Amino acid sequence: NYILAFETSCDETSVAVLKNGTTLLSNVIASQINSHKRFGGVVPEVASRHHVEQITACIDEALLQANVEVSDLSAVAVTQGPGLVGALLIGIMAAKTFAWANQLPLIPVNHMAGHLMAASLVDTIEYPAMALLVSGGHSELVYVEKEGSYKKVGETRDDAVGEAYDKVGRVMGLTYPSGKAVDELAHQGQDTYHFPRAMMNTHDIEFSFSGLKSAFINTVHHAEQKGEDLVKDDLRNLAASFQAAVLDVLIGKTKLALEKYPVKTLIVGGGVSANQGLRERLQLDVTDVKVIVPPLRLCGDNAGMIAAAAYVEWQRQNFSGLDLNAKPSLVFEDL
Ligand code: ATP
Ligand code: MG
Ligand code: FE
Repeated sequence: NYILAFETSCDETSVAVLKNGTTLLSNVIASQINSHKRFGGVVPEVASRHHVEQITACIDEALLQANVEVSDLSAVAVTQGPGLVGALLIGIMAAKTFAWANQLPLIPVNHMAGHLMAASLVDTIEYPAMALLVSGGHSELVYVEKEGSYKKVGETRDDAVGEAYDKVGRVMGLTYPSGKAVDELAHQGQDTYHFPRAMMNTHDIEFSFSGLKSAFINTVHHAEQKGEDLVKDDLRNLAASFQAAVLDVLIGKTKLALEKYPVKTLIVGGGVSANQGLRERLQLDVTDVKVIVPPLRLCGDNAGMIAAAAYVEWQRQNFSGLDLNAKPSLVFEDL
């Protein structure tokens, strides 16, 4: 079985070839980040245009690197949502065209199921499993009773973790996306600011990061108003304090979810799963279940993870017609 997968939900154009569900033969990623940097975020129109320009070359490159012929392929998979509608449509149009021209079945994939199933490319997921998905647009805990059955059991009430990282990074003058730079600064500082840890005393599996973000921004603005210069050490401590608060909440709520839903595997996925502080805390604090955190190359958006999630659907013959449409707000229950 060979699946050709497309991912264009945001600002990465990516095409991958996956063999038999676990062997990633290629995973070509064309990032647009240089075009979006100067705007401090992803500009949807710009993203769509780049996808159009890049997608054909990415398909050629993915097939070349995988060393497979079009006639070897078993199916075409594509991210249906969630994501930017214009960006999603480019991938969907390319996937439909490719599927139609080569008479291949088409498999729609939920982008967050992709982040979750990236784990299956590096280790065996033992079910039932819990997934902590933390990315630019989502922060949620997903219970996976058995392969392919995704049930969201908790999520953020407001900002996603990645979004909060990008905002505090911006306030500190770092380039977008700033999660990695904040993570690095955090490792050089101390938690001296003691920012709030929202909802830690509730028994709900829910996150909130907007209060933390505001506390951080207010601290920086107050210092600026008083004419204080934030020196490098202040920035290090600010980043360390922010990251300590984020990690306390993420780890605390993950442990709560693991109490409520006993599982065999904890999966961590999404762009923020690249966070070194999070990886360290998981090793220290989550010791009673198997933990799978994908390698960095599979944390950010990539078509390899979409192919992995598609393989589950392929086994169930969950195909769609050529009338497939983008669903910018796709949730797990929709599938
Ligand atoms: P979604 O997956 O919710 O649709 P997205 O696809 O835009 O959103 P991803 O590409 O999965 O998001 O993740 C990008 C986010 O990950 C950015 O907000 C970025 O700052 C963050 N990020 C990347 N590396 C790190 C890190 N080391 N620490 C914290 N955050 C990080
Ligand atoms: Mg991205
Ligand atoms: Fe993503």
